[in-house]
Amino acid sequence: MRYSKLYAPTLKESPADSDIKSYELLIRGGFIRKISSGVYSYLPLGWKVIRKIENIVREEMERIGSQEIMLPIIHPAELWQMTGRWDDYGPELMKLKDRHNREFTLGPTHEEIVTFLMKNELRSYKQFPVNVFQVATKFRDEIRPRFGVLRAREFIMKDAYTFHTDYNSLHETYKEFYGAYDNICKRLGVKYAIVEADTGAIGGSFSHEFHVLAQNGEGKIYFCENCGYAASDEKAKSSEDFQGVEEETLKEIQMVDTGDCKTIEEVSNFLNVPKTKLIKSILLKSNKEWIMALIRGDKELNISKIRSFFQDQTIDLAQPEDVLKAFKVNVGYIGPINVPNDVKIIADFSVSSMKNGVIGAMQEKKHYINANPYRDFRIDEVCDIRYVEEGEKCPTENCEGKLKMARGIEVGQIFELGDKYSIKMKAYFTDENGEQKPYIMGCYGWGVSRTLGAIVEQLNDEDGIIWPKSIAPFEVAVLPLIKNDESIKDFSEKVYDFLIKKGVDVLLDDREVSAGIKFKDIDLIGVPLKILIGKSFKDGKVELKLRNSKETFFVNFSNFENLYEEVINYLAKYEQDLKIKF
Ligand code: ATP
Ligand code: MG
Repeated sequence: MRYSKLYAPTLKESPADSDIKSYELLIRGGFIRKISSGVYSYLPLGWKVIRKIENIVREEMERIGSQEIMLPIIHPAELWQMTGRWDDYGPELMKLKDRHNREFTLGPTHEEIVTFLMKNELRSYKQFPVNVFQVATKFRDEIRPRFGVLRAREFIMKDAYTFHTDYNSLHETYKEFYGAYDNICKRLGVKYAIVEADTGAIGGSFSHEFHVLAQNGEGKIYFCENCGYAASDEKAKSSEDFQGVEEETLKEIQMVDTGDCKTIEEVSNFLNVPKTKLIKSILLKSNKEWIMALIRGDKELNISKIRSFFQDQTIDLAQPEDVLKAFKVNVGYIGPINVPNDVKIIADFSVSSMKNGVIGAMQEKKHYINANPYRDFRIDEVCDIRYVEEGEKCPTENCEGKLKMARGIEVGQIFELGDKYSIKMKAYFTDENGEQKPYIMGCYGWGVSRTLGAIVEQLNDEDGIIWPKSIAPFEVAVLPLIKNDESIKDFSEKVYDFLIKKGVDVLLDDREVSAGIKFKDIDLIGVPLKILIGKSFKDGKVELKLRNSKETFFVNFSNFENLYEEVINYLAKYEQDLKIKF
């Protein structure tokens, strides 16, 4: 490609709505443009990188025998009603009606569609296993679209689905996907982590996430260097049960005035008791019931653990107005005493063994002190419902390690779904004995467009993007640096033609602009290797410069083969350096 023909409008200024480095660089580098909140167009450079990511993903899918299909983006409501997700998936489902008033949704994921497709086709055990994937547009009406393509509303995902007659076959395939995803990460050339994950709205029993590590990543990963345990924050187990932590005699419960103190901080200061003596009472609501969660004042509630415990994705924090209406008291004074029996009370381990704690009194401006679980209030369930913290003991049995935290961007997730969808959609096959059995399923998502943003978020510097070679929009840029010099121009053309013939992805910066502008643009768009043709040309030399290093290497260009070999060597060195450096 010649730069003079390339449609890649670069910008000096960062966009006004920039909220993360990768978004700024993708806009400034002319890779993407925003159309509306969470909706983007990909310009030639952005699309080229997307295609390279997609090809790596596609090759790894095909390597494990997955076959490419294409499913519709518009899904009839009936299919989502069959699984209950028409209501359960929540407001992220973008619902719409056709001219006959029939309801549809734009597909945020395709379990319903693919199960429906297969249910009419796979009838005998002899037809299994089946393994299919697509690379397609998804739509999720995210509550807060942000960080550019990292959390978009319309985005590109590779999603694969597998169908089995039994769990052994599913486990085998799951392992193959795990390996394929590991390979994708390696081929992308980034630092990454694989973690145990919560199954969330997709459901099922077993799941892993693949994260590109980045300081500003939304995802928190907890890991133990001692045993290798690694889990997302939603999933990471807390191993501390606080049993026997407090050896106190139980005191008499007493109601006290706490005035306008509503938050943990305020109540703790006002009563002069540590936060560890306070019990947060948090009201949650599903589309069926109210739940009260109790957690120690210094800990954070993990709603994913509650959703997973009750197997109900509709559970969410109740709105303060709803709480006031239902319980006739403001959220700051909510507590577990006098709670109607149909409200389930679930307590974290940090609360169940607490002695003489402080709780909201269910009356305005009042709290109880010396409240004791089981004596003064009921607890229906005790389990781990809090986020772990750095430095906590590793949850692996017999491991003495401590948990550390890193930040990442989730680019892929794989799930063992089991029969969750097949039973609800009545997708059965006939087994060897003539019996009807539900399909056993797995599903495997990879965020193709999110990967574009995630890699830029990990690999950039003050000059711009530092693309790994495997997905760079161009591997090499040829820069004639002296204006109006015909011999340099001519030589640059020859180098460009030669490298193209060799299969190198080259950009020739043939623009009539200053060397400074060329450097700035090529570095901003992140080309791994520059071939500089300038002052030393008259001495029979060109300069090679790698994107991630300040060093310049002079190369004699006595013959083009020689130059080509040097290019390949330096690109290999670049790949190696990136792995070490980041
Ligand atoms: P998140 O927790 O970040 O919202 P998710 O767990 O809901 O993501 P999955 O259902 O696992 O997402 O989807 C598979 C992949 O699709 C994710 O790993 C991610 O790479 C990508 N993805 C999901 N939501 C978005 C989004 N809003 N924008 C871009 N990519 C997304
Ligand atoms: Mg996920």
